[in-house]
Amino acid sequence: MYLRRLEIQGFKTFAGHTLFEFQPGVTAVVGPNGSGKSNLVDAIRWALGEQHPGTLRCKRTEDLIFSGGGRRAPAGFAEVSLTIDNRDRLLPAPYSEVTITRRATRSGENEYFINRQRVRLRDVQEVAAPISGAYAIINQGLVDAALNLHPLERRRLFEDAAAISVYEQRRTDAERRLRETGANVARCADILTELE
Ligand code: ATP
Repeated sequence: MYLRRLEIQGFKTFAGHTLFEFQPGVTAVVGPNGSGKSNLVDAIRWALGEQHPGTLRCKRTEDLIFSGGGRRAPAGFAEVSLTIDNRDRLLPAPYSEVTITRRATRSGENEYFINRQRVRLRDVQEVAAPISGAYAIINQGLVDAALNLHPLERRRLFEDAAAISVYEQRRTDAERRLRETGANVARCADILTELE
């Protein structure tokens, strides 16, 4: 599974239709300060269904739409499409290529599409779940923060990233139930002894 194509139009600095084609492996995006590198990551997060404006470094939907500049008029809408190579079926969708599209207007109306079919936000969130986890996108500063963490906190971070915490919680619950059941068994044994 890898991100094969990213198409952006009217989103933040990307006024016109902009197409990125990625190859398997590592891709580095370089550019001067303020040229839109982080906006590109915001676009990916947004298309995957992000609902918190703060995470996208803005206050409301309108701030995400190209606001004009360089002799270009403000855009009326923003649209981002991610095309993911899904030949390994890592995403829960029966397609070898999955295109997730999000479009928003200045009035704040959002539309979502999977392979050009209109869907609900929930459908996008389900399909994108394997690639939109807490650490699928690493924010600026997180690496420094992780290095400065106390070893136990750092371990928790890796466990969260590997989605182990959910199993830890299940184990804690199972151990508690086992203890409660053990106590019940001991009580039953006492009652049986009294009855004999
Ligand atoms: P750095 O290297 O400093 O982190 P960067 O390349 O990551 O910079 P971004 O943060 O992606 O840069 O882009 C910031 C620019 O995006 C700012 O110039 C800001 O004015 C512009 N920008 C943000 N929202 C919009 C918008 N809605 N319309 C037009 N431009 C916008």
